[in-house]
Amino acid sequence: MELISGKALSAARKAEMAKEVEQYKAQYGRAPQLTVVLVGEDPGSVSYVTGKAKAAAEVGIDNVTLRKPAETTEAELLALIDSLNNDDTVDGILVQLPLPKHMDSDKVIAAIRHDKDVDGFHPANVANLWLKQPCVLPCTPKGIIQMLKSANIEISGKRAVVIGRSTIVGLPVSKLLLDENATVTIAHSRTKDLAAVCREADILVVAIGRPKFVTADMVKPGAAVIDVGVNRDPETGKLCGDVDFEACAPLSSHITPVPGGVGPMTITCLMENTLECYLRKMKG
Ligand code: NAP
Repeated sequence: MELISGKALSAARKAEMAKEVEQYKAQYGRAPQLTVVLVGEDPGSVSYVTGKAKAAAEVGIDNVTLRKPAETTEAELLALIDSLNNDDTVDGILVQLPLPKHMDSDKVIAAIRHDKDVDGFHPANVANLWLKQPCVLPCTPKGIIQMLKSANIEISGKRAVVIGRSTIVGLPVSKLLLDENATVTIAHSRTKDLAAVCREADILVVAIGRPKFVTADMVKPGAAVIDVGVNRDPETGKLCGDVDFEACAPLSSHITPVPGGVGPMTITCLMENTLECYLRKMKG
């Protein structure tokens, strides 16, 4: 079994990007700029936003985090996005999700200029992903493909099973695996005999949000297992994935840990997306 360390891969990619940013800064006269908007004080969101600011600093990307109170109205948030859309010094805009319940997240995301939408959630980016047109790729799926490639895992012709069909992880990672010529099955809560479906997978991607849900009987020996889940273990209170790591690791050819797997790569891909948006603008 080989561990795919998202932490190590991220560190290497961030070091490379830091050098690139240094050069682009000299060439274009300023660093890329990422503005993160956080509405409310959700502890999970605060911690994600802090992680993003730290990664930006490591790479040399200017980061501004705008913290707005939970009572902010949707109209106020839309006006803020409009001003960021029109600000030439802002290359990337990220509105941290989830938003307070009184806001329509879809409407807010759609209000971001698609060429500043570093999360890759804007409808134009989603459409272009499915149309195989240039787009900003969503960070978690992009990071997953990079992790598979970094470990030299053959994707073409392989059977991939993705558990989860969310628009931010399950669906887009399925499309990216398909684009890499895997034969992809998307499983979900209504899938019958899930364990048997999973046992067909050469590559098993799990994005459901249930602690240690995937057990050894669901993993084909020699499969690569990518664990997207971020959960609290109900027994220990510690961070854990959707995969029972202890039970599944010995069976797998490759596996990602939680923490230190998909999570760090997601943030690193956000930095890559910011750099890409900046470069597209600078190169005209
Ligand atoms: P989500 O929107 O809640 O979607 C969960 C998916 O899992 C749904 O498609 C659901 O099926 C499926 N599911 C739930 N229970 C299931 C079961 N018992 N059997 C089979 N399928 C089941 O979640 P998400 O946003 O994709 O996130 C999934 C997990 O990844 C969460 O733990 C989240 O925190 C984590 N995450 C991590 C990162 C990272 O960077 N590491 C990024 C994003 C998300 P139905 O569609 O049938 O309901």
